[in-house]
Amino acid sequence: MFTRRGLMLTSAALAGLPAVAHAAADPVKVAPFPLEAVTLMPSVWRDAVDANGHYLLSLEPDRLLHNFHKSAGLAPKGDIYGGWENMGIAGHSLGHYLTALGLAYAQTRDPAYKAKLDYTVSEMAIIQKAHGDGYIGGTTVERDGKLQDGKIVYEEVRKHVITSHGFDLNGGWVPLYTWHKVHAGLLDAHRYANNGQALKIAIGMSDYLIGVLGDLSDEEMQKVLAAEHGGLNETYAEMYVRTGDKRYLDTARRIYHKAVLTPLAQRRDELEGKHANTQIPKLIGLARLYEVTGDKAYGDTASYFWDRVIHHHSYVIGGNSAGEHFGAPDKLSGRLDDKTCESCNTYNMLKLTRHLYQWQPDAAWFDYYERAHLNHILAHQDPQTGAFVYFVPLASGSQRLYSTPDTSFWCCVGSGMESHAKHGDSIWWRQAGGGDTVYANLFIPSELSWTDKATKIALSGDILKGEPVTFTVTPQGTADFTLAIRVPKWADGPRLSVNGKNTPLLVKNGYVRVRRAWKAGDTVVLTLPHALKVETMPDNPRLAAFIKGPMVMAGDMGPAQGDVPQAPVVVAASALGAVDRGSLTLNAQPQALQLVPFFNQYHRRTAVYFPLFTEAQWQVEKAAYEEAEADRVALNWRTIDIMRLGEMQPERDHAFATDISEPSSRLGRSGRWLMWTTGKYFEFDLAVEAQTVLQVTYWGQDIRRNFDITVDGVLLTNEKLDYPSEAQFRVVDYAVPAAMTAGKDKVRVRFTTRGSGLDVFEVRSLRPEKAQA
Ligand SMILES: [Zn+2]
Repeated sequence: MFTRRGLMLTSAALAGLPAVAHAAADPVKVAPFPLEAVTLMPSVWRDAVDANGHYLLSLEPDRLLHNFHKSAGLAPKGDIYGGWENMGIAGHSLGHYLTALGLAYAQTRDPAYKAKLDYTVSEMAIIQKAHGDGYIGGTTVERDGKLQDGKIVYEEVRKHVITSHGFDLNGGWVPLYTWHKVHAGLLDAHRYANNGQALKIAIGMSDYLIGVLGDLSDEEMQKVLAAEHGGLNETYAEMYVRTGDKRYLDTARRIYHKAVLTPLAQRRDELEGKHANTQIPKLIGLARLYEVTGDKAYGDTASYFWDRVIHHHSYVIGGNSAGEHFGAPDKLSGRLDDKTCESCNTYNMLKLTRHLYQWQPDAAWFDYYERAHLNHILAHQDPQTGAFVYFVPLASGSQRLYSTPDTSFWCCVGSGMESHAKHGDSIWWRQAGGGDTVYANLFIPSELSWTDKATKIALSGDILKGEPVTFTVTPQGTADFTLAIRVPKWADGPRLSVNGKNTPLLVKNGYVRVRRAWKAGDTVVLTLPHALKVETMPDNPRLAAFIKGPMVMAGDMGPAQGDVPQAPVVVAASALGAVDRGSLTLNAQPQALQLVPFFNQYHRRTAVYFPLFTEAQWQVEKAAYEEAEADRVALNWRTIDIMRLGEMQPERDHAFATDISEPSSRLGRSGRWLMWTTGKYFEFDLAVEAQTVLQVTYWGQDIRRNFDITVDGVLLTNEKLDYPSEAQFRVVDYAVPAAMTAGKDKVRVRFTTRGSGLDVFEVRSLRPEKAQA
């Protein structure tokens, strides 16, 4: 319930942060300097912040609030945006937008951000008041073909009505994910822009949702949590920290999705086949709960998850997932496509890394952080336009696909608004609760203003160009402290000098420490030479990527427009042996390639992983390899559309509908299972051309079935799958008669049972084979 008592109890908390001290056994040893203390100097990171700021200021709060006004019975003040904003989850962008405005304000002190933020929050207060019960939201849900306000889903859950076809909650597309974004945005508006009204609204929201979830049985709660719910546990933990209201802590503990978190707590990696970014925020929530409660089990679960994802599920750029899903541990070489590395995942893994580093301040955490922050997050935004990519594709020859300013609003646009508003947030750290050690973890040109010590520390030098990093210290008078500088693992023979004198470089926990009574003009210079190195896939030592210093290098395959070139291979005794060190030319087949930093290939086709053959191997394998490569290129060329069953985003994009099927999985590949029934179905839209072949992927042991495939209601085939049983995927092609596609650019494909079960993994629409020539 949204009670007055709740508000009064917590009103004292509105004045400042935090209201609750940390747990007795406080695990937090170090803390980042606040963003306000860090000024970014010219660099690629500052460019990203500037481009993002431009985008943030171009967005209109009234448009992001369109559904919120409508939901409360108020007149909208702007048109709804397109893309995901107009697909049932309006509000997720608003939440990210609030966080991003807060971060951008803290990062730059530009009052334009705060003005937008304060306006947005003031409108939200009006909207929440109009609802009268603490609810605020912009989600919608379809009922009997009609679009309804999404509040109905919450009121149904309150009455113990909970259903799902796999990813939805009562037909709503991840409403609690959206809820979490709005909630987190308000908390960040409070934190970064000191907006007390935002915390009041967050309290109303928190209490409303407690009213909805509070009476559910544990079993019902788990059903609700089966749908993606972001970091809802984290925001409730944070509500407790801000207000001291123990109900919020109890709720944070209850938002514990057992199906995912119990195996992790027992140190079992069952991530294969799971939607990656649905899980990561749950672990960030546990990390926060550890900090708040001191309950080590939460921290251990978060640490175990981090280790599994980073060391067993991540690609060389620090990103994870293909088609948004985790695969089998250490089996990455077969998962390189145009949908690797969803950007939200790395945004969240970096957040989780910050928590783990705070408990154990070892520079090694930042070897990962820097790798992903530079090679994935910077690759996620086009600094010319401020547009974002959803995936950072690692398949050879792939290019990046960017958002539009007002018709995309994917999750990765939202997380992108945040990621690129805060590039100063993890450079400078200090001991929690004071102390006199300052840690420099990232080499991003910036100036730290350390008020406790009345000292400024400037960090300059472009490490991407191989320049030394210079720290210039400017105290008022003198200041005693230790400057602890991370010595990255990639540095090839690092050197240190203090005030021009070479100094022995002693590294402990990844840091070199310089302690002295600092005077104005003191300088420390750290030289970090680059070396060219190779990293191979855990499951394939003959699939190699190149690293130079902190940068993942890519083969430049030409402009993003135009045909996909053949994927390059390296025929040499070793990968490094194929590179000319002076010009960074890679002697690849079918042609030599220039190695360039991967992150800034914004509009180029690239190759990151190179298959490696010795001369002898290539003689044996060349024909088979080239045939497989030709097949891959041909299939790409023939593909009109791909529907991956059992994956949330493809199902959403293809207007998937079903009466009874469930997500399934085989060898880590997602599918849809229709149980043994008659007349049950799933269906979806699929793009077609005049001449179309439907290619369906089944499991080869699912034989002698009986089901219909229809196209726009007309029977295409009654299928029996009558072939020898084999334990592998089986692809079947169906030519679609031209009459079924005449004059259409998409059709509705439906699978209907006729007395047996059915598992389908992928359906492609293809151009006919002969058209290839
Ligand atoms: Zn995303």
